[in-house]
Amino acid sequence: MTRHCCRYLLDTSVYPNEPEPLKELREVSASHPSYWMGTAPDAGQLMGILLKLINAKRTIEIGVFTGYSLLLTALTIPEDGKIIAIDVDREAYEMGFPIIKKASVEHKVNFVKSEALQALDDLMADLDNEGSFDFAFVDADKVNYLNYHERLMKLIKVGGLVVYDNTLWRGTVAMPEDAVGEKYKGGRKLLLEFNNLLANDARVQICHASIGDGMTICRRLH
Ligand code: SAH
Ligand code: CA
Repeated sequence: MTRHCCRYLLDTSVYPNEPEPLKELREVSASHPSYWMGTAPDAGQLMGILLKLINAKRTIEIGVFTGYSLLLTALTIPEDGKIIAIDVDREAYEMGFPIIKKASVEHKVNFVKSEALQALDDLMADLDNEGSFDFAFVDADKVNYLNYHERLMKLIKVGGLVVYDNTLWRGTVAMPEDAVGEKYKGGRKLLLEFNNLLANDARVQICHASIGDGMTICRRLH
């Protein structure tokens, strides 16, 4: 997408419809040194629709940061919905938490400060959790996307969704390697491998959407 198109759709369709608490959280996060990690608001809008369409109630989030996608999920799921929100960084989460609280949705959030693989293994240790989640959003270390996928294919119910963020890696997955800046090469390689795996995974129906930094939506088939 060109930069002009991106600006246009943010100004026309996204910002005028962005709930006030999310706007506020975005503004608060802007002072964080890694502010660019927050979910793109246009991608967030897509996530909001997906959550509503499947009536998501129990969700998992891997990679919370200051909580943009988390708050979006909390505002979208029903009053008795629950999000297991996993991140190694509690400080960033605490930066956005007052806004989550002010929006009166903190009771839907179960923040787990942990390495995500460990947290998923802990969830799987309780057999009642198998196939019990409606939705997961994965937005943490790309090196583990494959590992997260294997576990989520057990935790998410058939018909449920797993959404992976940053799957276009600034468009570098579509570029020849020598045209890619040094700092993107490692991530590009991981995402190339991951994208190929998803494209050939018979367990899921996928849509690789060119929104934000690329979002791959997977629907568990069996
Ligand atoms: N979804 C967030 C952005 C997440 S940024 C938003 O909308 O703002 C990525 C986050 O993943 C960071 O906060 C980082 O601490 C976390 N992370 C990275 N590796 C992780 C791991 N192995 N386990 C748990 N969290 C991890
Ligand atoms: Ca991201």
